[in-house]
Amino acid sequence: MTWPKRYGGGEQSGMARFVVIEELLAAGAPVAAHWIAERQTGPSLLRFGSDEQRAKFLPPIVRGECFFAIGMSEPDSGSDLASVRTVARATEGGWIISGSKIWTSHATRAHFMIALCRSSERQSDRHSGLSQFIIDLSSPDVHVRPINLMSGHAHFAEVNLDSVYVGEEMLLGDEGSGWQQVNAELAYERSGPERFLSTYPLLCALGDVLEENCDSFADARFGSLVANLWTLHSMSESVAEQLSAGFAPQFEAAMVKDLGTQFENDVVDVASALSPRQLLEGSSDVFTRLLAQSVLAAPAFTLRGGTTEILRGIIAKGLNQ
Ligand SMILES: Cc1cc2nc3c(=O)[nH]c(=O)nc-3n(C[C@H](O)[C@H](O)[C@H](O)COP(=O)(O)OP(=O)(O)OC[C@H]3O[C@@H](n4cnc5c(N)ncnc54)[C@H](O)[C@@H]3O)c2cc1C
Repeated sequence: MTWPKRYGGGEQSGMARFVVIEELLAAGAPVAAHWIAERQTGPSLLRFGSDEQRAKFLPPIVRGECFFAIGMSEPDSGSDLASVRTVARATEGGWIISGSKIWTSHATRAHFMIALCRSSERQSDRHSGLSQFIIDLSSPDVHVRPINLMSGHAHFAEVNLDSVYVGEEMLLGDEGSGWQQVNAELAYERSGPERFLSTYPLLCALGDVLEENCDSFADARFGSLVANLWTLHSMSESVAEQLSAGFAPQFEAAMVKDLGTQFENDVVDVASALSPRQLLEGSSDVFTRLLAQSVLAAPAFTLRGGTTEILRGIIAKGLNQ
């Protein structure tokens, strides 16, 4: 919606996008395949990409034909992202990339992944020497292994990069600027309505259940959730305004994600307490089905996009500035 018309975008405001995203999530619409490319790959390409990269990738993303994955986490590097071990070695006309990425959402169906790699030896400043590369996931030297969640669904994957050649035109932004670029990208990942609306359909279903069978205790707990939701909506909206104005509100985004994911878990806890059920994912009863799905998904809410402890560390630094 917000991208330039020359790439097929609508040149609409970030606030217009916010409204549509919020409605899609509230309705539980199936948005996953396009999510990463629309939310963060596109803005990264617009900010750091070359003209050739924008012309190559943005139009097919707009047409819904090209999906991207995020290649940040590794088996031994999650919260401490600067310790990534995937290496990019310069070679004639490009780079050879070797290493492993893990928890890569939708890597089994994405066409490309933007990987954070170490492109020069580690110096005393551990944030230098990192770069981002666009990797074609259909390359024969890329091996994608789905990982099953406890729900049985394979949402994310491990991606092994076995000396994958990428042309120099696939370096995103400047060599050595990967850390700054990744941090700018994370503000998009942490502040949107997806960080407090994962369990919104369950909240609505709980409202329907309580309408038939309510008391003042249940009323108060439900009312408290709705009040929190409204506050989170206002906070997320104000971060979206800052992003639209070209700022990178990292601390504010971390706050929205920390409070938002707590709220998502609170919805599950309150729903389980007020209307306990035997959890059946395939139940024909909407509330039972949504509660079962939410209980299985809830452990991931505070992990994906940065854990609670890491976010609070970022907020602490922000409060100290
Ligand atoms: C559903 C889901 C989807 C994901 N999708 C992607 C994706 O598409 N791409 C991608 O790159 N990654 C993805 N991730 C990975 C996610 O970003 C990491 O799981 C997260 O950053 C935590 O890293 P870790 O799992 O290595 O845990 P660790 O970093 O090992 O942390 C383990 C625990 O220690 C705590 N801890 C760590 N360091 C500190 C510290 N300094 N101070 C205090 N406590 C600390 C953490 O808070 C956590 O509780 C996804 C994760 C999930 C759950």
